[in-house]
Amino acid sequence: MLQTIDWHARAKSVRLPNRPFIDGQYVDSVSNETFPCVYPGDGRLLTQVASCNEADVDKAVRSARKAFNAGVWSRMAPADRRRILLRFSELILANREELALLETLNVGKPIANAFNGDVVGAANCIAWYAEAIDKVYGEVAATAHEMTTLVVREPVGVVAAVVPWNYPMSMAAWKLGPALATGNSVVLKPAEQSPFTALKFGELAIEAGLPAGVLNVVPGLGHIAGKALGLHMDVDCVGFTGSTEVGKYFMQYSGQSNIKRIGLELGGKSPQVVLADCDDLDAAAAGVAAGIFANTGQVCNAGSRLIVDEKIRDTLFEKITAQAKSFLPGDPLDAATRMGSLVTQEQMDRVLGYIDAGRAEGATTLIGGSRVRTETGGFYIEPTIFDRVRNDMKIAREEIFGPVLSAITVKGFDEAMEVANDTVYGLAGAVWTGSVKNAHRAAKAIKAGVVWVNCFDRGSMAVPFGGFKQSGFGRDKSLHAMDKYTDLKAMWFAH
Ligand code: NAD
Repeated sequence: MLQTIDWHARAKSVRLPNRPFIDGQYVDSVSNETFPCVYPGDGRLLTQVASCNEADVDKAVRSARKAFNAGVWSRMAPADRRRILLRFSELILANREELALLETLNVGKPIANAFNGDVVGAANCIAWYAEAIDKVYGEVAATAHEMTTLVVREPVGVVAAVVPWNYPMSMAAWKLGPALATGNSVVLKPAEQSPFTALKFGELAIEAGLPAGVLNVVPGLGHIAGKALGLHMDVDCVGFTGSTEVGKYFMQYSGQSNIKRIGLELGGKSPQVVLADCDDLDAAAAGVAAGIFANTGQVCNAGSRLIVDEKIRDTLFEKITAQAKSFLPGDPLDAATRMGSLVTQEQMDRVLGYIDAGRAEGATTLIGGSRVRTETGGFYIEPTIFDRVRNDMKIAREEIFGPVLSAITVKGFDEAMEVANDTVYGLAGAVWTGSVKNAHRAAKAIKAGVVWVNCFDRGSMAVPFGGFKQSGFGRDKSLHAMDKYTDLKAMWFAH
């Protein structure tokens, strides 16, 4: 089906949602301001989108609060909430073609990835939490004989979900699933680079039967709409995914306002450790290449630091270089493309700046290092691998968020672990080894919320995702995510 659609033709006629979705409908913004949305595949202006300000955000929060207090969702029987969220998930799948196209137009990711990955992943996430709603129990605590003591979880109230542009639908679904399942109302703020699918989600949720006001969507700029949510006195919780820098702002907003609860899924500089005893260098090379070139490297857990033992480095480099060829940037609307554009010109320039910094600090490019497909007007960079990187170089310390791999050569297990952990981040890490002993040692040694052994970027809704250190706290996915959007209440009943 993917191959038979003329995506370029569809792109010309698809409706681009560009107004806030508040209280169950698209509305005009109070601000009357807009920001441009550009297709990064060719640099053309797609449309202007409403830029919500403090007044728009306040309107959305009021709508969410009204719905929450009325109990139309928060007090609905769990089995009924389950039915509505399952319908929401079905509608996401029913609109797969349109959602995939909107996502690709916003962020330039290959249409095949959007169609097979992002839409399906978001639908699965919503369905997973829908199914969980009526299967989670409270506790009866072991207290004195003349007491009955219940420990229950209650929804926090109004949740602000502030999300990034790299996986707009998935990141939104990771927040919406657990926040809505537990009975909260939500105000979703998509990144300014990628508002389309979030707005479409608002529309589909209403069609599924979600009461008006339970999900509002406010497109807008971070320092205006995002900040307004962070500082709002009637927002009870923020589920944030984005950079560590902005995550720190949200902690400040919380302290400056109502001490709202904050969950932070932040950046990373994840190590891919390939030990000398790795017995499948082909698999390791494929994992390393996909781990940095998938989604054009714009992945929070991208394996952006390759830490390789000197004994195998030359063989491994040859194999990774061969793998990198299958990630040459192509037209995002071509179903065969594996790597698309970067999200904006600004992001492309940022990544090119890091490539210059790597060269200036003495690292050498094994492959890549340049902008390509310039004639299209789009924002493309070829897969780039730096060799002779030291872990104190800028390209080893900072999150580049592009298709740039920094390779660091080490001697032995201990040095590999030391370098792996020498970072302010702790989102994820991987080790490739043929030794059971080293697999277990490394899995324990790597300070990160996720460790992969002889694989990379595996995920499941059943498994929590999130970071240590400056990669944040709180978890998305799995039942653990529900903790973020609920408060624990102890109820003591004297007999
Ligand atoms: P970003 O931090 O710039 O923006 C994220 C969101 O915050 C956007 O909605 C943005 O509008 C908003 N924002 C920006 N400035 C703000 C401010 N001053 N006040 C309030 N809100 C503000 O991040 P990005 O560039 O959109 O996304 C890339 C980052 O996201 C990377 O660092 C990446 O690692 C991270 N990320 C993390 C995960 C994870 O699960 N840990 C997943 C995806 C992306």
